[in-house]
Amino acid sequence: MRVTTAFNKMLAVVGASVAGVVFTDQGVVVTLRRRRQKRRCPCGWQTWAVYDRSVRRWRHLDLGSTRCFVEAEICRIDCRRCGRVRTEEVPWARPRARHTRDFQDVVTWLAQHTDKTTITTLLRVCWEAVAKIVIDVVAEAIDGTRLDELYRIGVDEVSDRKGHRFLTVVADHDRNGAVVWADEGRDAATLERFYDALGDQRLANLEVVTLDMDGAYKAATDNRAAHVTQAVDPFHLAKLANEAVDKVRRGAWNTERRTTPAPKRPRGRPRKNAPALPRDSTRWIKHTRWALLQDPDALKPSQLEVLDELRRRRSVLYRSWQLKEGIRDLYRLRKPSDAECHLDWWLAWACRCRIPAFVTLSKTVRANRDRILAAVELGLSNSRLEGLNSKIRLINHRGYGHHSAAALIAMIYLCCGGVTIELPTGRT
Ligand SMILES: [Zn+2]
Repeated sequence: MRVTTAFNKMLAVVGASVAGVVFTDQGVVVTLRRRRQKRRCPCGWQTWAVYDRSVRRWRHLDLGSTRCFVEAEICRIDCRRCGRVRTEEVPWARPRARHTRDFQDVVTWLAQHTDKTTITTLLRVCWEAVAKIVIDVVAEAIDGTRLDELYRIGVDEVSDRKGHRFLTVVADHDRNGAVVWADEGRDAATLERFYDALGDQRLANLEVVTLDMDGAYKAATDNRAAHVTQAVDPFHLAKLANEAVDKVRRGAWNTERRTTPAPKRPRGRPRKNAPALPRDSTRWIKHTRWALLQDPDALKPSQLEVLDELRRRRSVLYRSWQLKEGIRDLYRLRKPSDAECHLDWWLAWACRCRIPAFVTLSKTVRANRDRILAAVELGLSNSRLEGLNSKIRLINHRGYGHHSAAALIAMIYLCCGGVTIELPTGRT
């Protein structure tokens, strides 16, 4: 078998055949010969006329340990539709790319499944190239009709790894919380850009928007989509309640630290039969954190003991825990019609509890009362948006979170927007 035939079968490049193979210092360079056909502009317009020609090299998937490049002639054409000279589109690579389609697809598929260091080591590319490839491939693979037929959406803000950059993310509740739109910023203007992108027709179809308790998204929705029912995501309310409990716990820890000094440990290693040291109560309060924040159904026996001790001591931490679970009970009611009654009972309790963190929370809840009740009535669960938040945390954690906003948005579409990437191995 001739070398060119072997490479033809191995690379299976669409629209071209292998004309020659050269081994160089950088790796194998495969020269392609194009089949005679019209030159095609990225806009779709085709012509026989060529403006000028040049030779370009694209990085292809490695052959074993050797790097592989494909090289071919590429033309510029004077596109009548675009009204300017543009570089033609070739079947094996995306416009402007310096890697072949197969290479880009493998990078993007890996980006969906693994961390960035694995990709850069395995495929020998730099992370800037990975970010750029993901942006290009996602732009092509994303479903163009994703903004059609939106009825119930959720809006939330997410941040990058270091919390320097904020994005607004819109998810579709009816498609398992798939991300349909994301953009940089977390103010009213950002969400207004989404409503503008929807247009009047699709905006009129929208029925419910779930959002947080801050004013920005509410203002944008009031402004642009006044007909839509607004509801507060249960996830946000639970988060605020958890933060209030944590604030009380930190306060209790600080007081304890100031009033009772830590017991002194004797120097050196304790003797075998030495009596047990007295408990460090400051440390104990610090470690009540997980017992206080854990979901009651998932409490471990040791955490139940902690709660029981707090109850016996009549600690302010126990009352905070009761208040937190009281507001979370709102979403565990058998009959949603009882929600109004339950919420009013909780508000009456919280505003008189004399725990500052919960008095503040009760004020926030009172201001958002109707929107909180709307969520219970609509039966919108918090699991989807909460899942979205943890997925985005995972993307950040895998090393994709600290580059450009465009790269992070592409990663969010890729991992949370239901984009499917076909591997070159899947074609045969
Ligand atoms: Zn064109």
